[in-house]
Amino acid sequence: MSGEEIPSWAVSQLPAARHLGAAVFLGRQGGASSGEFASLNLSDAVGDSTGAVHRNWMKVKSAFSTVRHWVRMRQVHGTVVRVVYERSVDDITECDALVTAVPQAALCVLTADCVPVLIAASGGRPVAAVHAGWRGTAGRLVQEVVQVLREQFEVSPHLLWAALGPSIGPCCYEVGGDVVTALRNAGLGRAIGTCAEGTYRVDLRLANRLALTDAGLPDSQVLDVGGCTACNAKDFFSHRRQRGLAGRQLSFVVCAEDSLHLRAGGG
Ligand SMILES: [Zn+2]
Repeated sequence: MSGEEIPSWAVSQLPAARHLGAAVFLGRQGGASSGEFASLNLSDAVGDSTGAVHRNWMKVKSAFSTVRHWVRMRQVHGTVVRVVYERSVDDITECDALVTAVPQAALCVLTADCVPVLIAASGGRPVAAVHAGWRGTAGRLVQEVVQVLREQFEVSPHLLWAALGPSIGPCCYEVGGDVVTALRNAGLGRAIGTCAEGTYRVDLRLANRLALTDAGLPDSQVLDVGGCTACNAKDFFSHRRQRGLAGRQLSFVVCAEDSLHLRAGGG
């Protein structure tokens, strides 16, 4: 993996690198877009110029040139998990989680406050990428993904590693009653804090950590990478800070060539 010319929060900087070495969180710097989309916006659905978005993707693809397939999804804040096979690697469908064992496939998530969750079996294959806003979080989407990895790829949860990427922190994420109710109903009330005025703040990364550990991942194998997207305007797009007019930063995990405990997942 290369990519030195684009600022990133690579998991390779952490001790867990040998498990999650191909998990990369890009920020907003290093691209060609301008204005609210400055500069590395990778979404073609937020009003940015098509040419700029295309140039940004070209830059990412050339920086990480060992990737064979860039697997995208049409994110809809739902709880659908799509398993990607060699034959369907170029499809783009509505879903909020991708799972694959296709070697050198990069599973992509675009965010601007929601939590990008990248998951890999120790050994780096299979892998998964999850887009977890409050709806996906309350839907325990990460737990659904762990179940798919267990049932369809025969990977035990205690062999999985997860990285929770840059997303809005409890410092900035004040929410209404609908979010609070949804998280409480999902058994994730521990991620809700109260403010002095009787409003609520939510820690989405903590909520996803709780769902992952409920699914069987050891807490020590769930890593926090990067900080609060709303606090850090220099490095990250933030839907909330930018009042809806924001680009999207890319997170991706690349599937390794081989893994000892892979038995399913053919084409
Ligand atoms: Zn913040």
